[in-house]
Amino acid sequence: MGYEVVIGLETHVELSTNSKIFCSCGGHSSPKEPNDCVCPACSGMPGMLPVMNKRVVELAVTAGLMLNCEISRYTTFDKKNYYYPDLPCAYQITQLNHPICTNGLVTVKTANGARDIRIKQIHMEEDAGKLVHEGKFSFVDFNRTSVPLIEIVTQPDFRSAEEVLAYLNKLKSMFRAGNISECEEGAMRCDVNISVRKEGSDEFGVRTEIKNMSSFEAIDKAIRFEAQRHIDALEFETEELVQETRRFDDVTGKTFAMRNKETEADYRYFPDANLMPIIIDDEWLEQIKAAKPVEVDERAEEYRAEGISDKEIEILLDNSKAAKLLDDVIALGCNAKDSAAWILTDCAGILRKDGQSLNELNISAEKLAAIIKMVANGDVNRNSGKKILIAVVEDDVDPVKYCDEQGFAKKVDSSAVESVIDKVLSENTKAIEDYKNGKEKAKQALFGACMKELKGAGDPALIRTLLDNKLQNI
Ligand code: ADP
Ligand code: MG
Ligand code: ZN
Repeated sequence: MGYEVVIGLETHVELSTNSKIFCSCGGHSSPKEPNDCVCPACSGMPGMLPVMNKRVVELAVTAGLMLNCEISRYTTFDKKNYYYPDLPCAYQITQLNHPICTNGLVTVKTANGARDIRIKQIHMEEDAGKLVHEGKFSFVDFNRTSVPLIEIVTQPDFRSAEEVLAYLNKLKSMFRAGNISECEEGAMRCDVNISVRKEGSDEFGVRTEIKNMSSFEAIDKAIRFEAQRHIDALEFETEELVQETRRFDDVTGKTFAMRNKETEADYRYFPDANLMPIIIDDEWLEQIKAAKPVEVDERAEEYRAEGISDKEIEILLDNSKAAKLLDDVIALGCNAKDSAAWILTDCAGILRKDGQSLNELNISAEKLAAIIKMVANGDVNRNSGKKILIAVVEDDVDPVKYCDEQGFAKKVDSSAVESVIDKVLSENTKAIEDYKNGKEKAKQALFGACMKELKGAGDPALIRTLLDNKLQNI
């Protein structure tokens, strides 16, 4: 029996703000030399107070909107206490009790299809500084202390490294498009929580957390290594799994234990009384929504790659019903570009005539695909295809049967067209005479009579050429 890997991610993203989260020092991309963006507040001098950067709230809310989260209208900060030389206050300002966004959902696409990943929450917090080790000395650089971060926490919904990478790539392209973060390496860091369980089991196994990885390649390798370590431990009892924090070593490609997993109590969280609760009212939320950029939809890119025009893509992204129909007929083997034209031009046109919109389109993908294929294969011409489409859209007829009944299906070769023209000419001697006397309209009437005789199934250009030839020779 196989094992299933279960993964939950905590992703830290450094925001592209001009200044830090609680002081006016330059933000993420400002520093040139160590400690050149530091002030008494962000270096933890006694008595300094934090002042909230409004832009951080706006970017966090924008990220939440992109990830379909509920936006908290009341959000507060807490102190997470621990001692480390890169944390000058000996606490990190973060959000525990009232995070800014909760309950989101993001769909990721992998080779095995689409998967929904639930977002547990997004919270705002400040980054820590950096330690630089040189020989027996260690240096501390406070440029990064108080750079704003959002942390995005997922539910344990990933089942493979592929899904994790698809998710991270999606976050990256969304956040770049939204000017939330450039997400360059180091600006996006993940803690990967991982466990395995027997396939079919609905209980989670013991989880370990691999901390602080920023290269996607390392994340991929670490997940594969750690999943195998868990499976071996369970299958062959190579070791006992304990809940712990681990680090991934790039050189050996292995993870190793760092420390036992700390619990919430270890951090002595308490509300940060130096910062007022933030209230997000309707007006502010509407402003943030209005400023949110249009997402670069992977879907749009796929359509574009198929040769579908920007105008059509716009309609498709706006109209999920039309988009679904298009996806379905493509899945049935139709050409994407052609099918888009059939739906957005032909179907829309028929509905418009009846005073309806594309939303009211009620045609099965199978019937539409049958028509598109008949035309694409040359079994009927596009004109006849359109007539069949009208009958299907308006009366839901069976396209193949209808085509047979109307006699559209027969291949109309030039000899068949010729005999029809001969017949029409022999029945319309008056019109021929008129034409010879200079009446152009008479030729149009003859052409119409031929089309009618062929029930619209003939190629109009061919009919015109043959008709012209015959008239010349009379
Ligand atoms: P903690 O407070 O200990 O960090 P959370 O409940 O916040 O725990 O979860 C942290 C992350 O661990 C989340 O992304 C969650 O999805 C993930 N996670 C929780 N349980 C498991 C598990 N059994 N296997 C894998 N990931 C898990
Ligand atoms: Mg956690
Ligand atoms: Zn500062």
